Amino acid sequence: MQESQLEGGAVTQRRVTVDATLFASDDPVRLAAGRCDGCATVVFPSQDSCPRCSHRPLAAHVLATAGTVWTWTRQEFAPKPPFRVSRDGWAPKALGYVDLGDVLVEGWLVPSARAWRIGDRVHLTTVPAWTDERGVVHTFAFEFDAEAPA
Ligand SMILES: [Zn+2]
Repeated sequence: MQESQLEGGAVTQRRVTVDATLFASDDPVRLAAGRCDGCATVVFPSQDSCPRCSHRPLAAHVLATAGTVWTWTRQEFAPKPPFRVSRDGWAPKALGYVDLGDVLVEGWLVPSARAWRIGDRVHLTTVPAWTDERGVVHTFAFEFDAEAPA
């Protein structure tokens, strides 16, 4: 866990991740998926058995950190629990499916206000999702990568 300074305030709050099982590492951030030894299907988040051939268990598999936007939409409403809304309320987000090569991963796209296009290059990052009794809860997201070759 890391400490983080909240914007505009002197309060230091603990930084936690939304669900540790989603991450292979925090710094640098990497996502933990599962890969089937039977048919090579990759699933994120990992699960007990393969959704294609039912083989079990799945092997640990670390996903790529860069990919392209496969499709996206504007998320106008906050997700259902266990997602929690910060006291600042909900602000609409860009929500995308990102092609990481092995698998499509759903996540927020940042910056939210960008006019996103299918095929935009992105890289993995983390963003604050809400604040609760544990601290500032971060989740993974995909950030526009202006430096990536087209
Ligand atoms: Zn399989």
